[in-house]
Amino acid sequence: MKFSDYPLSPEIKKNIEALAYKRPTDIQFKAIPLILKGADVLAVAQTGTGKTAAFAIPVLQKLQSLKERQRRKDGIKCLVMVPTRELALQITKVFEELGKHTGVKTYGLLGGVEQDPQIATLIKGVDVLITTPGRMFDLSHQGALRLERVEILIIDEADQMLGLGFLKDVRDVMRLLPKRRQTLFFSATIDEDIKSLAHSLTQQAIRIQISPKDPVSKNVDHSVLFVEMDDKRFFLERILKENPDGKMLVFVRTKVRAERVQKAMERVGISSLILHGDVEQSERTATLAAFNADEERLLIATDVSARGIDISNITHVINYDLPTEADQYVHRIGRTGRAKQRGIAYAFCAPEEKELLRAIHAYTGYEIRILDLDRADYRETLKMAEEDQYGIKELLQATEETLALNKKGKSKRRKGKKH
Ligand code: AMP
Repeated sequence: MKFSDYPLSPEIKKNIEALAYKRPTDIQFKAIPLILKGADVLAVAQTGTGKTAAFAIPVLQKLQSLKERQRRKDGIKCLVMVPTRELALQITKVFEELGKHTGVKTYGLLGGVEQDPQIATLIKGVDVLITTPGRMFDLSHQGALRLERVEILIIDEADQMLGLGFLKDVRDVMRLLPKRRQTLFFSATIDEDIKSLAHSLTQQAIRIQISPKDPVSKNVDHSVLFVEMDDKRFFLERILKENPDGKMLVFVRTKVRAERVQKAMERVGISSLILHGDVEQSERTATLAAFNADEERLLIATDVSARGIDISNITHVINYDLPTEADQYVHRIGRTGRAKQRGIAYAFCAPEEKELLRAIHAYTGYEIRILDLDRADYRETLKMAEEDQYGIKELLQATEETLALNKKGKSKRRKGKKH
């Protein structure tokens, strides 16, 4: 089925064409007709499957077909709740692109920026509001944000919402919304907690599941390398050097680790971008834009900071540190192999991380392929670094020798003077 066969407005069809989407992805094929019909949906689909357009297309269609006076000033019609600012920005962009010339007004409400212009925009009228919980609560408590006209609620990346402790926030929002509404619930993974949250928010939701057994996209070729903690940087260096055209996203556990990896790469002449929780919003946006525009080919990030980012054409995802939560593994490697492209993911597993690897195996339901590194291969990777070290050692030795010679010369001269 092609998009042109769907009951969508000419504007939306044109926008889909402009984005060069030819055929609906699995999730779009399953979700769009249901959402258009008004059903509640519980979709288990990870990022990279085209899930944003799977809800944006039918929502825009429904809102566009409302009469002008029913939109905007009448209040927000669709509320999209997401766990992070990056994801909010990304979804806003998709709604804006797909919603061009439809008259549907989309707005991304984010924390960390001034409130007054946001309030002014809300007063002018917004149809689709995409937001993280924090700023939404501030504005709704001040009476600047009214949610009683919401007809469609979308919770995206619900598992992350729970993971980041937003459960109470999600429940609080429900009290502000009309009971009669359509609810679309998206999660990359599903467990008992997610199921019970979904059931409490939706009514007779139709469940859609993409790749039920294997949560990892078929487009990602992922494998694990057993390496010592201190050797990881040499392996990263090797992958970078062996793939000069690669665009890589490297995940580390903490901000300090991110900075350390960046410095280690700098030392071998590889520049990179960095993203962690302490990076200012404006800088994050600039960093993501630079990476997206291929100005740099290496981005080192922590999980929270990189959550939901949709950067095109990432060729490699490197799990430099294994994630402490198994589902993060799936989120991380879902950054590559997007839409129809192929992606490669490596996990660097140190001996002390084997337990984390077991958790990932339990989660995905199978063992990740182990990249066979024989001793020769391993040594080969370290050789480059050893050569560097040797270079430094030689330099030091030479300096010491020169110093020693100078010293000798001086003492000889002093001795000569005495005699
Ligand atoms: P998402 O899962 O929403 O993060 O989307 C992943 C990527 O797939 C985005 O870069 C979209 O632009 C792209 N995409 C979404 N739908 C389609 C489609 N039908 N055909 C090709 N690419 C798509």
